[in-house]
Amino acid sequence: MSTSLRFKVVKEAFDRKAVSVKTPEERPEAFFAKAVFNRKRMYEYLPKDTYDKLIKAIEEKQPIDRALADSVAEGMKRWAIDNGARHYTHWFHPLTDGTAEKHDAFIEHDGKGGVVEEFTGKLLVQQEPDASSFPNGGIRNTFEARGYSAWDISSPAFILDGTLCIPTIFISYTGECLDYKTPLLRALNSVDVAATKVARWFDSEVKHVKSYLGWEQEYFLVDEALFSARPDLVLTGRTLIGHESAKNQQLEDHYFGAIPSRVEAFMLDLETEAHRLGIPVKTRHNEVAPNQFELAPIYEETNLANDHNLLIMTLMGEVARRHNFRVLLHEKPFAGVNGSGKHNNWSLGTDNGTMLFSPGKTAKGNLQFITFIINVMAAVHKHNALLKASIMSATNCHRLGANEAPPAIISIFTGKAIANILEKLENATTDELANISKKEGVSLGLAQIPELLIDNTDRNRTSPFAFTGNRFEFRAVGSSANCACSMIVLNAAVADQLNYFYDAVNARVAKGQELNDAILEELRQLARDCKAIHFDGNGYSDEWKKEAARLGLDCETSAPKIFDAYLRPSSVEMFRRTGVLSEVELHARNEVKWEMYTKKIQIEARVLGDLAINHIIPVATRYQSALVDNVVKLKSLFTGVKGAKIVSHDLETIEKISDHMDIIKTEVDRMIEARKQANHITDEREKAIAYHDTVVPPMEIIRRHVDKLELMVDNEMWPLPKYRELLFIR
Ligand code: ADP
Ligand code: MG
Repeated sequence: MSTSLRFKVVKEAFDRKAVSVKTPEERPEAFFAKAVFNRKRMYEYLPKDTYDKLIKAIEEKQPIDRALADSVAEGMKRWAIDNGARHYTHWFHPLTDGTAEKHDAFIEHDGKGGVVEEFTGKLLVQQEPDASSFPNGGIRNTFEARGYSAWDISSPAFILDGTLCIPTIFISYTGECLDYKTPLLRALNSVDVAATKVARWFDSEVKHVKSYLGWEQEYFLVDEALFSARPDLVLTGRTLIGHESAKNQQLEDHYFGAIPSRVEAFMLDLETEAHRLGIPVKTRHNEVAPNQFELAPIYEETNLANDHNLLIMTLMGEVARRHNFRVLLHEKPFAGVNGSGKHNNWSLGTDNGTMLFSPGKTAKGNLQFITFIINVMAAVHKHNALLKASIMSATNCHRLGANEAPPAIISIFTGKAIANILEKLENATTDELANISKKEGVSLGLAQIPELLIDNTDRNRTSPFAFTGNRFEFRAVGSSANCACSMIVLNAAVADQLNYFYDAVNARVAKGQELNDAILEELRQLARDCKAIHFDGNGYSDEWKKEAARLGLDCETSAPKIFDAYLRPSSVEMFRRTGVLSEVELHARNEVKWEMYTKKIQIEARVLGDLAINHIIPVATRYQSALVDNVVKLKSLFTGVKGAKIVSHDLETIEKISDHMDIIKTEVDRMIEARKQANHITDEREKAIAYHDTVVPPMEIIRRHVDKLELMVDNEMWPLPKYRELLFIR
């Protein structure tokens, strides 16, 4: 790109007006979920008998037979065609970023030279995408390349861009899962079974426990023209070079500030589309960094909430383009300003309406509350390394531990009210405990919890896992992540812990102890054992890093090594006991994680090499050469001491440019050599570690020196849009 082109692109971006969107005439009530085959549509389009059987199967998590599938397929097809769909697809979540789909038209030969639009139960329930090109960690060899996708009846079908999308799981012929949805459903099932057993101590009417998720999606918007002029944004989703803008977020004037009209138009359009797809998006606001925004729905059951998050990430990209924007879901698109996360607000609730992380109205309800809170803490403590692994990626590692995000250490913030209860419990003597038990916890202050919580869940923003009054907020999740990753681990770990707790309490009861006594004694033990995970202080401080290491929390910072946590015996056993992932699956999935890590760094390193050598060095050379010319000319005009003085600044700059260019070239060579060496390694883990240890460090040095050159070289010559141009939408 020549100089004038950058200026042209920037002008184009700055002059751009908001795309006008028509506010829908109908209210959201009228069009909400219009594009979803939900119960209302099922009732309308399915024979009564089919409808009843399908609902029963969904509620009881039972498989459906072929006759039922045929009948559902017929109704679903009629609804889809009535709503303009021409194609259908099994929509699944492979182990890459995002979702996968292969579209087929409804048409079949009619035997008379024409076609009929057909859709059978067989096509609805199961398909066999040739999926050898999806990552599988070596589970499938190419000679048995087929996997199959199967309908997840708990998530409704929907129409997107004229295609009927059927949410499915994706598994190999040998039965191993090749996606995120399968283990998520298994984890949700395991937490349902485990939590139901425990909840029934307090309320014998409970039949199921549901897991809920409310995600808060952060993202950046960049003007499309500027985006296109940055090869790094186009190819890697983040800026690999770029000096901080003189103004970024230091005035803190963006958070909750007025939303620019261009962005507002985008948001309205996105929300309308989301509502049509039944995604209950509710909250929107500016985030801390310039051009950064957040979108959050009303929480839903975890499986559906996750489908909706994946869908919204796709929608955001599409709608943004209609508004001449590009959406950046990368966790750290810009150095020096806040990155993007995806807070996962998570809770458990019974089928008869009790939220298990909300303090109860009675002393008994509060004993239940504290039972679930402490068991979550124990699970997070036991599996803190694994939870960290669940949110780690080549992209999220830039955000964690940077100044605005939780460190790469998992701890739990509870707030004072809970902290006081924990303290009393831990220190209670056995006599005191018996007394507490008689009053069902009243003397722990449990009866006053609801009032206490109101002002006690002061939001400690530095905690990666915070209790926020009626839910836990897992804040370390990355903005581009599939929430399933963390939800699989969290729900499975809590299920496993609850199973353990249930057995431990029952063993005491079997020996004649009162149930409440047994519960409190076990809780006291857990509270003592998991004390290390509880941290209400400043998670960003260096003292905490030292303290956390002393307490035995996992402090590993290298992403490829963090993935090892999935293969620790404690993790393998936990996943086996809960039936969420087998050892074969765990190994395969880690292979994919390491491979993805390597590939992402590899792509970044290539792009950075190209930018440095083909974009930056030539421009810096040109500018330097102009300076040299100038020096020669000045020297011919002014001689002696005067001449030396006049050119001294230019000479200094010329030398500095040479120094920076020299380092950049040397480091690019070092980076390329490191890549070559790493590429010889066949073991995926070792290769990822080599990329982390030897390819990333020169990349950081290259960036530093390119950014220095950006401050020295003539602004007109600089080929790439600068931060100040990228980050401020007018
Ligand atoms: P914040 O102040 O952290 O931005 P919000 O009130 O905007 O919090 O809520 C953030 C998300 O948490 C929303 O998606 C909301 O629906 C969800 N949420 C609220 N209560 C629960 C709950 N009990 N379980 C799961 N998610 C919840
Ligand atoms: Mg929040």
